Amino acid sequence: SADTPILQLQNVESAYGPIKAIRGVSLKVRQGEIATVLGSNGAGKTTILKTISGIIDPRKGSIEFKGSDITAKDPAFIVQQGLSHVPEGREVFPLLSVRDNLLMGAYTRKDRDGVARDVEAVFGYFPILRERAGQEAGLLSGGQQQMLAISRALMAAPQLILLDEPSLGLSPKLTKEIFEIVVRINRERGTTILLVEQNANMALNAADYGYVLENGRIVLEDTCERLREKEDIKEFYLGMK
Ligand code: ATP
Repeated sequence: SADTPILQLQNVESAYGPIKAIRGVSLKVRQGEIATVLGSNGAGKTTILKTISGIIDPRKGSIEFKGSDITAKDPAFIVQQGLSHVPEGREVFPLLSVRDNLLMGAYTRKDRDGVARDVEAVFGYFPILRERAGQEAGLLSGGQQQMLAISRALMAAPQLILLDEPSLGLSPKLTKEIFEIVVRINRERGTTILLVEQNANMALNAADYGYVLENGRIVLEDTCERLREKEDIKEFYLGMK
């Protein structure tokens, strides 16, 4: 039904050896929205995304994407289902050209015309990548590499993008630019986005629904409109003034 979430986590626990990084996380992402998971350094945000995309197998709990169980499935299989992950720290292929990085994102696709259209679409969102298309990705600035990482994820034609801390290491101005494009991608392409961020202000302005994570547990959830109004919560959980 229309109310079925595109992504649903139920009671997910993940650990690194003896270290429990997430401790029973349940959350939903609705079709077409931008959802965000906020939390300080070490709260478990990256671990949630790695568990969804199959990089880490959870100890407990289940993950459903478009109504099908994807718990602990192979990462390549999960990408093929329409779920792309933009990892923390970008991880572009530094010795490949910008264009070849984009094509790597589309390697499972057979629709050549669609791939060519999507290369043009990402150049539309990030014109600097068109200018740098023939250059090695390792020569791009941090902000440009973030743009490339988002673009490479889009090249898989995903229905859901997991976005890990796009603001990391970027100036406030670049962060704002990237968030504006993320919102445009969501509105124009209908791509659902799950964004994890330490920069609560940016994330709360961009997203529709938010979860606050503390020590591997969701301690609060609400619409971002309501979370923005709760000054005490912002200070207490998110260290904002
Ligand atoms: P950050 O913004 O710093 O990435 P985060 O909220 O994404 O923070 P995670 O990276 O998910 O947090 O880390 C959650 C917990 O798991 C932390 O206590 C962290 O030290 C631990 N952790 C993360 N990766 C590993 C690892 N490879 N081995 C051991 N412990 C890890």
